[in-house]
Amino acid sequence: MNRVTVIGGGLAGSEAAWQLARRGVAVRLIEQKPVRFSPAHQSPGLGELVCSNSLKSKDPESMPGLLKDEMRRLGSLIIAAADESAVAAGQALAVDRDRFSAFITDRLTAQPQVAVERAEAAALPQESEGLAIIATGPLTSDALARALAERIGETRLYFYDSIAPIVDAGSINRDIAFTASRYDKGSEEQGDYLNCPLSREEYEAFVRELLAARKVTPREFEDAKYFEGCLPIEVMAERGERTLAFGPMKPVGLIDPRTGRRPHAVVQLRRENREGTSFNLVGFQTRLAWPEQSRIFRMVPGLENAEFLRFGSIHRNTYLDSPRLLGPTLELKAAPWIRLAGQITGVEGYTESSAIGLLAGLFAAARLSGKNLPPPPPETALGALCRYLREGASNRPFDPMNIHAGLFPAPPADIHKSERKSFIARRARESLEEWLQTSPFPVM
Ligand SMILES: Cc1cc2nc3c(=O)[nH]c(=O)nc-3n(C[C@H](O)[C@H](O)[C@H](O)COP(=O)(O)OP(=O)(O)OC[C@H]3O[C@@H](n4cnc5c(N)ncnc54)[C@H](O)[C@@H]3O)c2cc1C
Repeated sequence: MNRVTVIGGGLAGSEAAWQLARRGVAVRLIEQKPVRFSPAHQSPGLGELVCSNSLKSKDPESMPGLLKDEMRRLGSLIIAAADESAVAAGQALAVDRDRFSAFITDRLTAQPQVAVERAEAAALPQESEGLAIIATGPLTSDALARALAERIGETRLYFYDSIAPIVDAGSINRDIAFTASRYDKGSEEQGDYLNCPLSREEYEAFVRELLAARKVTPREFEDAKYFEGCLPIEVMAERGERTLAFGPMKPVGLIDPRTGRRPHAVVQLRRENREGTSFNLVGFQTRLAWPEQSRIFRMVPGLENAEFLRFGSIHRNTYLDSPRLLGPTLELKAAPWIRLAGQITGVEGYTESSAIGLLAGLFAAARLSGKNLPPPPPETALGALCRYLREGASNRPFDPMNIHAGLFPAPPADIHKSERKSFIARRARESLEEWLQTSPFPVM
């Protein structure tokens, strides 16, 4: 059947539908609004931005800028809508949200191949209905989430994310942060863990700032039901001045080689990828506002100049354990006629969600034409996201991710730190062109 059913007319679903339609594929786009609204959606339009009106940086040498450039190159509807509805915001691509959504709605409804149905999809599409893409986002309706959970197993669909910040390895002060695992266990010669030591005074000042910091207020559908195992650090700090020092900041089993003594407290950093180009702050899931995270975490000795690749967060978010559930072209292994797209796959952010929608549309179009389309190489921003969905992080459960430099293969060691981002961007542009030229499916 030369038709694809796309469920969800948000950012990813609209982008997927567009990519299919512009290749002549008929699309049945099922969007539940205005029949049913999630707790965050308010307007009946397609491609609604539920919160901020920014798609992050335009700088082509920043990773979000690079991702947008790649999408622009592949004829993205979402990026065209953003360019068309842009408002002045310095280096950020911020948009007039009503014009943005109207552009997407108008373009899609003007396509003769696209039929938009306003209804909630409560069940998974059957194989007899042809290929399908599910792009129902972080607030997928309960009925569909239940159907998905039944198909993939309850423990593989998550409803909250609880994320610790990630910092660029090159921005950690190695004169202070020392390599060691507790009690010398683990492969410390590989530098799995870095430890930032705090004296009593530094620890107390850190806790004081945590308690006073501005936190993100949960929306009313995000009532703070925390699991004891992953409490936000600021909630732990509220329980007593020593709680963190007995919890994620405990110094037990660690000796600071500079002093030969056990520090009063430590912040442990764990390798985020094989190359060791990024590290996460172990146990530092948090609801602090982003500027507060930069300010307060930089008080930690060794992190004075930390460059944050991802900030911590805790929010309501429906997403899959993609590395275990999805094949290389985003198809559900348990039901390969169905692809997943957008935030539900475990990417984080407007642009990242749209990017995965774009790829899901391309993969489905290629499948329909009987051609093979391999994922873009990991040297590209699109391919780096795909690789994260295939592999996750090396040593912790899968959690949602935005685009950042640590997702790309590391640049050669002789590339100076100040040149790394431009190297990654240049290499990405070349790799994308090569992928476009060698693909058995004509992407352009
Ligand atoms: C409250 C909140 C605030 C966020 N703020 C930001 C932010 O400021 N910046 C940022 O970059 N990212 C933000 N995100 C994260 C994320 O990038 C966005 O949610 C993004 O819109 C995800 O795109 P998507 O296409 O995957 O999902 P969505 O854009 O949410 O689209 C999903 C669509 O599917 C529809 N749908 C759901 N269930 C069904 C069903 N069963 N049948 C038919 N249709 C259905 C929905 O109505 C919706 O239109 C936020 C997320 C949330 C929840």
